Amino acid sequence: MYNQNQIVMETKHVTKKFPVSGGRFLTACEDVSLKFLKGRTLGLVGESGCGKSTLMRMLVQVEKPTSGNILLHGKDISALKGEKLRHSRRFVQMVFQDSSAAFSPRMKVKDIICEPLVNFGKIKAREKHEAAIRFLEMVGLPAEFADRFPHDMSGGERQRIGIARALVLEPELLICDEATSALDVSVQKTIMERLVKIQAEKGISIGFICHDIALVSQISHETAVMYLGNIVEILPSSQLAGNAVHPYTKALTGSVFDLRRNDVRPVEELRGEVPSPIDLPQGCPFQSRCTYCMEICRKEKPKLVEVENRHLAACHMLGKRTGMF
Ligand code: SF4
Repeated sequence: MYNQNQIVMETKHVTKKFPVSGGRFLTACEDVSLKFLKGRTLGLVGESGCGKSTLMRMLVQVEKPTSGNILLHGKDISALKGEKLRHSRRFVQMVFQDSSAAFSPRMKVKDIICEPLVNFGKIKAREKHEAAIRFLEMVGLPAEFADRFPHDMSGGERQRIGIARALVLEPELLICDEATSALDVSVQKTIMERLVKIQAEKGISIGFICHDIALVSQISHETAVMYLGNIVEILPSSQLAGNAVHPYTKALTGSVFDLRRNDVRPVEELRGEVPSPIDLPQGCPFQSRCTYCMEICRKEKPKLVEVENRHLAACHMLGKRTGMF
């Protein structure tokens, strides 16, 4: 049994800015501090373009932070280069929305699954068939799939191949970026059940990015809510429906959970579009869409503060104790 309080990976005040025309910058992530714990799933939700995928790309070291640090077992990996970078990448693997886009149509499943093992010198070419069968079994596919080509499978089967390939190097953290979003609900359920089983067996940490907050609440142990590059709330997923305090989280959950609720708390309404991440305004990132916006919200950015144990939120209303929460 493993220690579920053990921090596998951590971002500390990570900011990512991309230069755009006119000497301006697009802020994809701002001051993001998150912890991925051993054997646990951290869900990351937010609207499209909020910076979720950029953050995860920094975790798999495809992008480097503009500032801040990324730690793997306490060791800073954000500035690694060359062979050290290549070596550390095997500990964090990613499953994309459409894994098959990365597959060569001319490669057999056994070659696709075992390519990372061969690249890292873990197996010899002649051992591929046997190794592929082991990982096919892990993701619930029969051995005969080893000799198939990607076009010979359904979308759900291809996604399982993507998961098998991501698992071969025995990563400590698996990032699933909308990994089941394109699949039918029944296929989605089967894949998620399989992922949860693998997690329980191997103690893998999972970062689960998804725009579907209902799915995130079922899959993840904790959920981080992201808005315009900022983490605005982190809480146990079991508390999303009833205990969220940030107006943005409440708007997201309200639209999903409203029909099941039997209390009289108001449901936050999410109006308007997300503002441009270029030249962000001073103060709270959510101010232009928030019903409760106050003067202080336009001047000072709220910090993440503890609401209760394992529950943090960034909103000036928390300090005011208005009865809203
Ligand atoms: Fe709304 Fe102000 Fe809270 Fe931001 S800080 S979410 S603008 S009340």
